Amino acid sequence: MATPDLDSLLQGGVRGERVFVRADLNVPLVDGRIRDDTRIRASVPTLRRLVDAGARVVLASHLGRPKGRFDPDASLKPVARRLAELLGTPVAFCDDCVGDAAAKAVSELPDGGVLLLENLRFHAGETANDPEFADALAELADAYVNDAFGTAHRAHASTVGVAERLPRRAAGDLMMAELRHLQVIREPERPLLVLLGGAKVSDKLAVLEALAPRAETLAIGGAMTFTFMAARGEPIGDSRFEPERIDDALRVERASAAAGRRLLLPSDHVIAESLDADAPSRVANTIPDGWIALDIGPETARRYVDEAKRARTVFWNGPMGMFEIDAYAAGTRSVAAGLAESDATTVIGGGDSLAAVNQLGIGDRIDHLSTGGGASLEFVQGLTLPGVAALGD
Ligand code: ADP
Ligand code: MG
Repeated sequence: MATPDLDSLLQGGVRGERVFVRADLNVPLVDGRIRDDTRIRASVPTLRRLVDAGARVVLASHLGRPKGRFDPDASLKPVARRLAELLGTPVAFCDDCVGDAAAKAVSELPDGGVLLLENLRFHAGETANDPEFADALAELADAYVNDAFGTAHRAHASTVGVAERLPRRAAGDLMMAELRHLQVIREPERPLLVLLGGAKVSDKLAVLEALAPRAETLAIGGAMTFTFMAARGEPIGDSRFEPERIDDALRVERASAAAGRRLLLPSDHVIAESLDADAPSRVANTIPDGWIALDIGPETARRYVDEAKRARTVFWNGPMGMFEIDAYAAGTRSVAAGLAESDATTVIGGGDSLAAVNQLGIGDRIDHLSTGGGASLEFVQGLTLPGVAALGD
């Protein structure tokens, strides 16, 4: 399936056309100030191409979780100001994303002009993909561009409803880059190593089930380790685990074995007697009663880094330990550093894993940092994302 890209849309000509752009401008705001403008910056290339081609850009995004009604703390207004600076062109703002005010603001757009609509999620119709709300959005435009990969796994009005109502549509440059890089994990050069960590088996069960039989090696870290260890009957002390997921963990183990794949668990751990940041910790191969494992140990980190060096393709999601606390960050850091040194094609997804890589300042040595979170995980499983399917081929 070839998703139509911006080139194909621009070839058809967009001068004077109203182009609805669904971007991801969901930036962290504190007291109306933008704390990190990475997502705004990332949206600029697609917007610049449309502006340069003379399109009338009708830009829309969600921000936060305002639950279907106006919330001044989730207004996109500060984003319009920042975007204008980054684009070097005025960005008009409309304090509703549908209705007469929006229609009027769109009608006042010059060729090459940009209008940012207020937060889509101030209307409950957005996440419900309500047909009337989708109609109201679609009335504002002639063509559709989706550059928000992170919401492409959700069938919302702005990701699916509007796309279905506008005959000319395309994926923006950010969306295309995500699809291209994550496709490598679907059709990897072998061997493929999948490193999965993070909090819970339940969050990652679908991806575990999909990738355990497909990856030559699946290496587990993070708190989900202890559900797998409990399933094997190994001692886990007081480490966090999910008793109701033990059967799922066993099923993943069996699927891996049946496909002749390897499923690796940590062979040593950093353990502590409590979660206090200053509680004494030590490295152990077995977790004693009353102790909590909070990071993979140095031997495990070495094993996983060796695997990354032997692999041709690596996908990593989820930290190896409670990396927010410095004492338990070494495992995650070592694995990140090992990936940066590997000759394999390396792709990292997940909010917390990306935070760890950015902390280390090694993002430029990873082939692709996926901004997608849930969308990346669904895509690498082989699922069709509704927001991508809606763009057609
Ligand atoms: P991502 O956002 O990259 O997908 P997750 O949200 O699944 O990752 O998991 C991240 C969380 O898992 C972090 O808050 C981290 O502290 C926690 N975590 C990792 N290892 C452990 C552990 N051994 N014990 C408790 N929490 C852990
Ligand atoms: Mg997370």
